[in-house]
Amino acid sequence: MKPKPSPSPLGKTLLPAAAIQKRVGELARAITAHYRGKPLVVVALLNGSLFFLVDLLRRMPPETGVECWRVSSYEGTASQGILRGLDQCRGDFKGRHVLLLDDILDTGLTLHAVAAHLRKLGAEKVEICVLLNKRRKRTVNVKPKWTGFGIGDEFVVGYGLDYNGHYRGLKSIRLFKASGASAPATA
Ligand code: 5GP
Ligand code: MG
Repeated sequence: MKPKPSPSPLGKTLLPAAAIQKRVGELARAITAHYRGKPLVVVALLNGSLFFLVDLLRRMPPETGVECWRVSSYEGTASQGILRGLDQCRGDFKGRHVLLLDDILDTGLTLHAVAAHLRKLGAEKVEICVLLNKRRKRTVNVKPKWTGFGIGDEFVVGYGLDYNGHYRGLKSIRLFKASGASAPATA
């Protein structure tokens, strides 16, 4: 007897590629208008904000500065509540306007800690932009100035968002059910 194929862990498409691109264009226009005349550096949190960063940056003024920081708090589909990698994040931000960019705001721990770290490094003003904002109770209070989309409290993948390192390359954002997952765990 043939073994039954395991069901795909990918669920319905929450945000199609075209809707994401349209919204990223709107965000780029709003951010550009806000920072007109003020030199800006974007600090993007990798790997999740990879595609968001590239699509946004290509629609912003060419002189916009960029730094990429690698921090993580997730393993599988749950936040571990500890932020790893922040001690490696350095730079001279004295007197600079910083836009902190991330894929998704969930418990708020990541953005809260990174924003505080940027202020410690001398940033004059830190604003936050997230592509997705999960409607859930935050562990800490974080208020993004710009949000792409509000979504329900469900685990999603695609457009940079992963499940243990997989599915980032999907052009759309889809629901994901870990129970049927076939992707091996990665560090
Ligand atoms: P927070 O620190 O706000 O709890 O978590 C933020 C980070 O958790 C995000 O940058 C992202 O890496 C990860 N995360 C939170 N929710 C999801 C989700 O639904 N899907 C994926 N793939 N990652 C998520
Ligand atoms: Mg992340």
